[in-house]
Amino acid sequence: MPKSLLLIGGGHSHVEVIRRWGLVPEPDVAVTLISPDRHTPYSGMLPGYIAGHYSHADCHIDLDAVCAQAGVTRIGASVGAVDFAARIARCSHAPDQPFDVLSIDTGSTPVLAPIPGAERHGIAVKPVAQFLEHWAQLREAAPTAPRPLQVVVVGAGAAGVEVVLAMQHRIAGDGGRAIFTLIGDGPTILGVHPRSVQQRFMNILQHQGISVRLDTAVERVAPGALLLRGGERLAFDEVIWVTGAAAPAWPRASGLQTDAAGFIAVDTHLQSLSHPGVFATGDIASMRDTPRPKSGVYAVRQGPPLTENLRRALRGEPLVEYHPQARALALISAGDRYAVASYGPFALSGAWVWRWKDRIDSAFMRRYRAAPEN
Ligand SMILES: Cc1cc2nc3c(=O)[nH]c(=O)nc-3n(C[C@H](O)[C@H](O)[C@H](O)COP(=O)(O)OP(=O)(O)OC[C@H]3O[C@@H](n4cnc5c(N)ncnc54)[C@H](O)[C@@H]3O)c2cc1C
Repeated sequence: MPKSLLLIGGGHSHVEVIRRWGLVPEPDVAVTLISPDRHTPYSGMLPGYIAGHYSHADCHIDLDAVCAQAGVTRIGASVGAVDFAARIARCSHAPDQPFDVLSIDTGSTPVLAPIPGAERHGIAVKPVAQFLEHWAQLREAAPTAPRPLQVVVVGAGAAGVEVVLAMQHRIAGDGGRAIFTLIGDGPTILGVHPRSVQQRFMNILQHQGISVRLDTAVERVAPGALLLRGGERLAFDEVIWVTGAAAPAWPRASGLQTDAAGFIAVDTHLQSLSHPGVFATGDIASMRDTPRPKSGVYAVRQGPPLTENLRRALRGEPLVEYHPQARALALISAGDRYAVASYGPFALSGAWVWRWKDRIDSAFMRRYRAAPEN
């Protein structure tokens, strides 16, 4: 009887698991991926897609093609619960899926729940597919709008800064009219980056005419207006939420041990603290011993050790440890083909940094297009 390996979510770690499985298949193991969309976005290139530097295909991995090369079955559904006693995952619009070994790489979504009205008004940057549909409508509306559209991006971390600059670049290039505001609830933009990086981006945002509101907390959202702490009302035509990372409710509700925010608690083997044979990586995982910020870099790096541990778990062998790098290089794009590199206390910027980022990102994407190679 073949064993079943079930992968939930077509995130950055799982695409690498599937690619590696295709190169070296495991005998007598049936592998199934459950992920709702055929095309999974590569977030590193998303701002470049919004800005118009890349096509949809440039920055999306075709899960069906990657699965077909590896002999993996993809089910287009979302998992809403796991029954660990019965060892089955419960899906929307698909039959329950059994598993011997389970791996979860379903990412995160912006934090909206604490802000009344945020879920009803505006659009979150994730799930990315919905955001991109909305973005296409906004782009179409901007050139013919009777007055400049008021677009507010809430969240002044790297993703919020990249998104507002990319949108501004594209709309201006299309001849559209929009006034952009970036809101952050801390004292600076890009809170985890050095002052030199923050200052460079403050200059770029100012140069592009984007207003930045710091120490500004959104308390409530009404139709067409953000209600800010202190009582101010900020009118908007569009609000984009790029606020941190929130976990879905289902892992904790299914009985998995999570951290306080609801992310699945894992050990150095990327294995659940509460459920042996269950693994989690990427944003949905919380590494108990080596906590790191939610960033695609870690999801990518976890792919190889996760693959190894899934094989070992299926064979009943001891697992390998994964120790994340102490700090990660961030290449943050600035709308135009210009980027800033941030590493520890260091910053470098220029068109050449954008080309460097483009080479790294394009090489990553090629791995999931070309025929398997070692
Ligand atoms: C605009 C933007 C730019 C960014 N740029 C960078 C960057 O340059 N570098 C960087 O390191 N990080 C970047 N990030 C952060 C990065 O997006 C995340 O850290 C990364 O995507 C996490 O990868 P993941 O594998 O955990 O999940 P994801 O890449 O989010 O993939 C999750 C997958 O799971 C599927 N899924 C979700 N829920 C379910 C479910 N219930 N059942 C089944 N499938 C499900 C989704 O459809 C998706 O395919 C950026 C984020 C944003 C918003």
